[in-house]
Amino acid sequence: ATPIAMLASVGAGAKHGLLIKGGRYLELLAKADTLLIDKTGTLTSGKPRLTDVVPLNGLGKDELLRLAASAERYSEHPLAEAVRSAALERELSLLEPRDFSTDPGRGVRAAVNGVTIEVGSWRMLGEDEIPARAAALESQGKTLLYVRTNGALAGVLAAADALRPEAPGALAELKGLGVKHIELLTGDNERTAQAAAGQLGIAYRANLLPEDKIRIVKEYQAEGRTVVMMGDGVNDAPALAQANVGIAMGAYGSDVAIEAAHIALLRDDWSLLPRLFRIARRTMHVVK
Ligand code: ADP
Ligand code: MG
Repeated sequence: ATPIAMLASVGAGAKHGLLIKGGRYLELLAKADTLLIDKTGTLTSGKPRLTDVVPLNGLGKDELLRLAASAERYSEHPLAEAVRSAALERELSLLEPRDFSTDPGRGVRAAVNGVTIEVGSWRMLGEDEIPARAAALESQGKTLLYVRTNGALAGVLAAADALRPEAPGALAELKGLGVKHIELLTGDNERTAQAAAGQLGIAYRANLLPEDKIRIVKEYQAEGRTVVMMGDGVNDAPALAQANVGIAMGAYGSDVAIEAAHIALLRDDWSLLPRLFRIARRTMHVVK
């Protein structure tokens, strides 16, 4: 494509809320055949709601929720926000966490009132057996957050998150535009991934860590595919950078993801995605 045609398209994108960091990404998009999508915050609303608080070792519900929300106090993850909102609704005051650390794609850890609190995925906590209560929540397609106090399992929180309403239509359009393979990549559990992917008629892989997402991008690239990766979180940043075209959900996305990506959607709207693909294809077609 001529530099002028590219520039015109980058400008056209900007008008619609698409931040395109260079014409070469339009070139790559025009021949993209594989789209990998993060789930939490990207395909889903990014505003999960806490639905269940299940103590497993004798703590009261409010106490469990208060400890978890205090540990999550400074996390930017959408699930952390859900935990804090639930605590707020129950009018629980949060405690000040110390030694807060976050492990992207896994969860958080902090000392609260001298107790070490961990909130995170099954994989982060490395427990070997899923409690029956938790399995029942998983089978409802909910996202689970396990809570440990001083290394012992203290309870489980569950959150539900709806798909973004424009996502199914946008994905159907992309298939029509020749994106042959669309796959959901998530750190969430198998059942939740299956429920979301099933609604969209796309493939999925669950229980992934950030390093798994980047490995999968590389595997498809090794097959000669041109890979587009779409994500919102800190945990997606390495895979966004590795993809031929990394696209960040900009409106809610973390700064780290926007920085790592090649294109950002500045409005929180999936219908921008087919628009972007069409701009790319038109640009390349005009100049060929
Ligand atoms: P996705 O890949 O779908 O965007 P993430 O990789 O962000 O999901 O998170 C994967 C899983 O790790 C979540 O389902 C949750 O169990 C756990 N997790 C991640 N961050 C947090 C957090 N801040 N608090 C609690 N759990 C978390
Ligand atoms: Mg995410």
